[in-house]
Amino acid sequence: MKLYSTNNPDLSVDFPTAVFNSMPLDRGLYMPLHIPELDQEFIDNIDKFSFSQIAYKVASVLLKDSIPLEDLQAIIDDAINFEAPVVELDPETYVLELFHGPSLAFKDFGARFMSRIMAYFLKDNEKMLDVLVATSGDTGGAVALGFLGVPNTRVTILYPKGKVSEIQEQQLCTNGLNIQAIEVDGTFDDCQALVKQAFADQDLNNRLRLTSANSINISRLIPQIFYYFNAYAQIKRRGKEELIFSVPSGNFGNIGAGLLAYKMGLPVKQFIAATNVNDTVPRFLQTGIYEPRTSVQTYANAMDVGAPSNWVRIMDLFKNDEAALKKVVQSQSYTDEQTLQAIKDIFEAYGYVACPHTAIAWLALKAYQKSNPGSVGIFLSTAHPCKFPDVFPKEIEVEVPEQVKNMASKQKCATVMDNNFESFKTYLINY
Ligand SMILES: *Cc1c(COP(=O)(O)O)cnc(C)c1O
Repeated sequence: MKLYSTNNPDLSVDFPTAVFNSMPLDRGLYMPLHIPELDQEFIDNIDKFSFSQIAYKVASVLLKDSIPLEDLQAIIDDAINFEAPVVELDPETYVLELFHGPSLAFKDFGARFMSRIMAYFLKDNEKMLDVLVATSGDTGGAVALGFLGVPNTRVTILYPKGKVSEIQEQQLCTNGLNIQAIEVDGTFDDCQALVKQAFADQDLNNRLRLTSANSINISRLIPQIFYYFNAYAQIKRRGKEELIFSVPSGNFGNIGAGLLAYKMGLPVKQFIAATNVNDTVPRFLQTGIYEPRTSVQTYANAMDVGAPSNWVRIMDLFKNDEAALKKVVQSQSYTDEQTLQAIKDIFEAYGYVACPHTAIAWLALKAYQKSNPGSVGIFLSTAHPCKFPDVFPKEIEVEVPEQVKNMASKQKCATVMDNNFESFKTYLINY
């Protein structure tokens, strides 16, 4: 796989370079030079294949020049060791559950695959890889659990004090081994600024081999393509063919992976990007003006993004042709009040407990079905509801999975730090 930069079509780097750099120096994003299509016979018979076989097929057409196929198979089997079931709520409404991994959010797919890809490309005797990640909640947990115990890597997570949920904090702070957490007396933006400053610090870069694990890394997107194809297989087994995906969106990586699947031949009729009031994309699709804004805090806080970092990838996939894009992607935004009401409505109608992000995707799917009666749709559930306990009204009981209960008894270990770069730098050097 060769990749170019969205800011420079003439650039061409190999896959390991894109993985370790995350972002080209020109501050564009890496995109595959060539997006291969799956053969029609495979797509027509996809219902006969398991998730693991589908993942392998997708990965092999993308990466066959970059990783020997048996190694690729081993990486996939190790990284994607949990299911992504499509659950029927009614004959027109299906939910794709992406929260069955260790951190209970879809980011496990990306983080687990990326960690193994990085470990694979690290040569023996190479300097240890220092992964820095700022998190507002979900990313940190997925990256921590994704890299836990991966040889020759060390992960440092910065999170804002008092601004992540209890379960999220446990996922960040109870790992030990090669994972360390820093509780920053500041906001998520402060955490992100500290990480950015570390990447820009020449002295620190001479001492340590720093890399980032954020969602713009191309190796996080690739494994997300797998579950779109696998959702199709599951729908087909139920005798349905139509594919409408409603995707709760923040940085637009998840839906970006869906659009990559579409370009690889997945017969999707419609994508719906569902957002909270951070509505940069829905506004753009309505007005044609792309105007990022400072993010606003909502119940669906993993989507509190005012300047979605993967949006340039999506524009690039459609060669910046707005009309072509709008045929495949629509977008809707919802308020906190609507989100809360949706959580109640889904529970009342189906006895199903949806996290706030998931509820927003359901709302957008319902709105689409209202103007397109009879259509069958899938909305993506990006996290287990127990990660957002404060949002739910008392009458809705949220089940807590066993793995979470086990975590609660573990010792929390985090370094408390002021929002100060020199302290952070000293910590990284001396730890
Ligand atoms: C990260 C996240 C999202 C947003 O996904 P993007 O790929 O950034 O659009 C949605 N829901 C949950 C629960 C998340 O953790």
